[in-house]
Amino acid sequence: MNIERICWNITNECNDNCSFCFRDNLSNPLPLKSNIDIANKVLDARIRHIAFSGGEPLLYNDIFEIMEVIKKRGGQITLISNCILLNDEMLERCLEYINWLAIPVDSLNVNGIYTRNERHIVNIKNVLKYINNGSKCNVKINSVISELNYMEVDNLYKGIIQKYECIKRWNLFEFTPARGRAIQNKDYYQLSPESDERVIQQLKSLRAVRKDLSIRYKHKKTILNSYFIIAPNGDIVKTEDETQKIIGNILSEDFNCLLKKLNIDYELYKKRVRNNQLVII
Ligand code: SF4
Repeated sequence: MNIERICWNITNECNDNCSFCFRDNLSNPLPLKSNIDIANKVLDARIRHIAFSGGEPLLYNDIFEIMEVIKKRGGQITLISNCILLNDEMLERCLEYINWLAIPVDSLNVNGIYTRNERHIVNIKNVLKYINNGSKCNVKINSVISELNYMEVDNLYKGIIQKYECIKRWNLFEFTPARGRAIQNKDYYQLSPESDERVIQQLKSLRAVRKDLSIRYKHKKTILNSYFIIAPNGDIVKTEDETQKIIGNILSEDFNCLLKKLNIDYELYKKRVRNNQLVII
């Protein structure tokens, strides 16, 4: 089976400090030339869609040079950004390259423990308003669901998802202690089976969901068995049983061989990327 998209943590630097963060803290970013080689290797393997994440990908100085290479070769780009740097000018620059913008929103409670930086909601609403005016690109909202915010699903839907037509996908991820601080703080965030059931009930009872909106609630098991990333140093990393497994390095090894060695659950992977209105996996 072909892999359609790949998540590339281009840098682990970040300008926010979320305690549930599962970014890779272990590897250092590569220089531009090496990252252009990586982009070409990914595209040579017929993976057409690259999602830039981090850390905050906009903190990688040469991000637009890499996007330029991908766009020239017909690739599709998702930018996963915490929006701190996305003023109108930066947004316009990004919009020259990206097909999707993915924005994290986990809570609307600005004084709550689950909020990111204190300006997060203001920032993301500014970005959504700007993109919505003229449908400048498609937007995905990514929400980490944990024991602290599982009752907010309905509010998130009414307060954000329903309000902006540019939002075409809502990804809800069960909190997964895959890497970094998420492992240290897992007792705090881990979702109980009862809370998980409550999330599912809230999703099933959402009313008047637009036909062009797809909602995916992905459980920890799915995330652990069907996800892998390119780390900032080019390592291909998969998480198994809450530990990181380095499969190899894309710069020094044959990428197609590494993909075969990944041994991911392709049935789950296919369900993960399916575009139904509501997918719970
Ligand atoms: S969760 Fe995202 S925004 Fe928050 S610290 Fe981690 S990488 Fe940065």
